[in-house]
Amino acid sequence: MRGQLQALLRRAASTQGRSKIDIDWDNLSFNLDHHGQEMFCAVWNGPAKGWEGQLQDYGPLSLMPSAQALNYGQSIFEGMKARRTAKDRIVLFRPEMNASRMKDGARRLCMPEVPQHTFINAVEETVRANSEYVPPLGKGALYIRPLLFGSGPILGLAPAPSYTFVTYCAAVGSYFKGGQLKPIDLVVENKFHRAAPGGMGGTKAAGNYSAVLQIQRAANAKGFADVVYLDCKTDAYLEEVSACNIFVVKGRTIKTPPLTGTILPGVTRDSILQLARKRGYDVKEQPIPVVEALEADEIFTTGTAVVVSPVGSLTHKGKRRVYGGGVAPTPVGLELYGDLTAIQNEQTGDHFGWVHPVC
Ligand SMILES: *Cc1c(COP(=O)(O)O)cnc(C)c1O
Repeated sequence: MRGQLQALLRRAASTQGRSKIDIDWDNLSFNLDHHGQEMFCAVWNGPAKGWEGQLQDYGPLSLMPSAQALNYGQSIFEGMKARRTAKDRIVLFRPEMNASRMKDGARRLCMPEVPQHTFINAVEETVRANSEYVPPLGKGALYIRPLLFGSGPILGLAPAPSYTFVTYCAAVGSYFKGGQLKPIDLVVENKFHRAAPGGMGGTKAAGNYSAVLQIQRAANAKGFADVVYLDCKTDAYLEEVSACNIFVVKGRTIKTPPLTGTILPGVTRDSILQLARKRGYDVKEQPIPVVEALEADEIFTTGTAVVVSPVGSLTHKGKRRVYGGGVAPTPVGLELYGDLTAIQNEQTGDHFGWVHPVC
């Protein structure tokens, strides 16, 4: 109730011009500098009550030190974007895919599922309440972060007694430094692995991301934007990058590793597969040996945060392979980037029914 009242008061104030936000849309980065003022927060206190939530001020949450998520890691997240489009409205992209992926993750980590309508409602409310943070067309997006975690206290290892589902957001620009289409330099990781068969690599579980920090930082220090992980059984096949999927192009053939549980089933990955098929490419979900990637015509990565990001070079055991000169985006990645963003920005027809208008 208090949260709703505050939200109403703030909106009333902003219509009087008091809280006009002042953002330099041309210089957005991928960070929280311009986080939304409101978040949607729901709690789960047992199956009888289910999820109960509302908008409230973006701010600290109150947790016991014994909160399950802090001790044992029951925590999963999603990443989505809202965009201001050529039709001068704000839209989401395939939100039901994120809702269903979060359900899968909740089951894997023994958490109560957030029903699709609850999930999409939380995201829509967050977007509407923070609509002034959605950048103008072409300047970036409102990044939305739904987060589900075991907030209740527990001592012995077990699922939490209660849960929190919170959705916050921030105005963001391109994910990698240097701009959206600047080719990135990647390095193949030969010591550590991101996920193992039977593990939880196929979910956006928080722990998957703390596991890669050490590796990512070491790569960054050597000038690489990110790391490509290999399968942990043979160290021969590409898996994915820390937070995006990977595609390899040779002639008219486009390949990406199959979803066998160790890589994240990206919404962008699925969309690029469909767009590539529509363009008539020979599209395959197949294991890709590192050697094949080193001999490919081009490589690109996909994800909500990165969109489609061309790879300028891949380094493996000290050998560096450069794609397309390493400075300009390579053609197939660029073409599919164009197809995807034209739909997301409503600059073309929504052939697949992927666009979800919010306001
Ligand atoms: C989120 C994520 C992706 C991309 O998924 P999208 O749904 O396209 O955003 C790929 N790999 C990892 C490890 C991720 O966390």
